[in-house]
Amino acid sequence: MTLTIPFDNTYARLPNVFYARQAPVPVRAPRLVAFNADLARILRVTPGDVTEMAEAFAGNALPEGAEPLAQLYSGHQFGHYNPQLGDGRAVLLGETVGTDGVRRDIQLKGSGPTPFSRQGDGRAWLGPVLREYVVSEAMHGLGIPTTRALAAVETGEIVLREGPMPGAVLTRVAQSHLRVGTFQIFAARGQLDGLRTLTDYALARHYPDARGPMGLLRSVRDAQARLIPQWMSVGFIHGVMNTDNCSIAGETIDYGPCAFMDAYHPNTVYSSIDRMGRYAYSNQPEIAVWNIAQLATALIQQMDDKDRAVEEATEIVHEMPDLMQQHWLDRFRAKIGLVTAEDDDLSLISDLLTRMAQNRADFTNTFRALGSDKARDQFLDPEAYDTWSDGWRARLEREKAPIDVTLSVNPAFIPRNHRVEQMIQAAVAGDYTPFNRLNAVLERPYDDQADAEDLKRPPADDEVVQATFCGT
Ligand code: AMP
Ligand code: MG
Repeated sequence: MTLTIPFDNTYARLPNVFYARQAPVPVRAPRLVAFNADLARILRVTPGDVTEMAEAFAGNALPEGAEPLAQLYSGHQFGHYNPQLGDGRAVLLGETVGTDGVRRDIQLKGSGPTPFSRQGDGRAWLGPVLREYVVSEAMHGLGIPTTRALAAVETGEIVLREGPMPGAVLTRVAQSHLRVGTFQIFAARGQLDGLRTLTDYALARHYPDARGPMGLLRSVRDAQARLIPQWMSVGFIHGVMNTDNCSIAGETIDYGPCAFMDAYHPNTVYSSIDRMGRYAYSNQPEIAVWNIAQLATALIQQMDDKDRAVEEATEIVHEMPDLMQQHWLDRFRAKIGLVTAEDDDLSLISDLLTRMAQNRADFTNTFRALGSDKARDQFLDPEAYDTWSDGWRARLEREKAPIDVTLSVNPAFIPRNHRVEQMIQAAVAGDYTPFNRLNAVLERPYDDQADAEDLKRPPADDEVVQATFCGT
């Protein structure tokens, strides 16, 4: 069999100010370590033999129709504007239109230096590649919009991070790689033609029913306002919500120092470079609004009547917190089994979360077990749960639906941080059993799986991941 990818490229047709043509830089000894056959089917990708796929997904031999390029963008990193970023270690091979009619990018990440690499080596090491593979596919399994992973390849080369590490390349699939930062760079440079072209392109590709820059702004705002409460509802912390990691399509993108919480605490941060806690769990909604405000600022530049545009954009941005709060409430109401809405639901949910934080309750296991003794066992002081539960029971009396409806919204499985770390260590030592097992279990996170009880447990004291990640 020969690997074929039915490319149908549109980004490569845009004027060349949007990218630099750049082929992946070949690697020494590629070895295919993961291939996502289910996703391949959706993309209409025909798998080839293993050697051929290793060569292709390492960037050594490009499938017919690929037009590799590195995309240009800028962005605010931790609140500071960086005038030029761009794909420093990734190339877009092209796009396909899937069996579901959705157009998607196929990108190699870790594929070597590009004109935008700055000081970087253009490479990735195996750990972050496998983390992104597992966590992005888990996110998909949870039903949350996300980029996906089509393949992972070990390169047979060493990359230098804290020490010498095995190199790898991830094949990432996204509805597009347009980011807030893609708009920012053209706005900041005063390249209004580019900004207009990009706006039209994004509208046509993602929001064909919306009109004009403000229509785009409203659509991206809505997508992000839906996305962040979904993260919150499964205890996910993105870790680097920079504007260059904020997708126009509204997908979760760029899994760097991200993780799912074990014990609930609103201030949880995983990234060791986030010393101020800017991207802490509970700050995520506020940051999403901030990012959309940056998109507004960029989009406005192309409008003729600036005063009017500022007024409209301000309104669009100012509506976002309430919108997000509404989505958040919807999600958390569902998590505690409420179908109807009452005014006091917010305080009921907040009270539970406060008690969970005070009692170091495991986020996932508490919600999954609500109503049983297993939930109360999550609390250092189980009476803290009992007191809350009394009020909750009274509230449930006024509901018609049975409580087990929560099993379809409260996952049994998340990719726990310590399991991801153990998986990486095993893979580095050549054992992909934990990687394959995590992927298989996380495909069905809402199903109890009797042979995977160990993956439900929070880390033992000696398993807690101490050194969190900065270098990717
Ligand atoms: P990230 O933190 O992955 O969102 O990346 C932020 C920026 O740094 C992007 O422009 C990346 O392309 C770039 N970058 C990250 N790692 C590397 C690397 N090893 N070599 C070159 N550029 C990199
Ligand atoms: Mg990024």
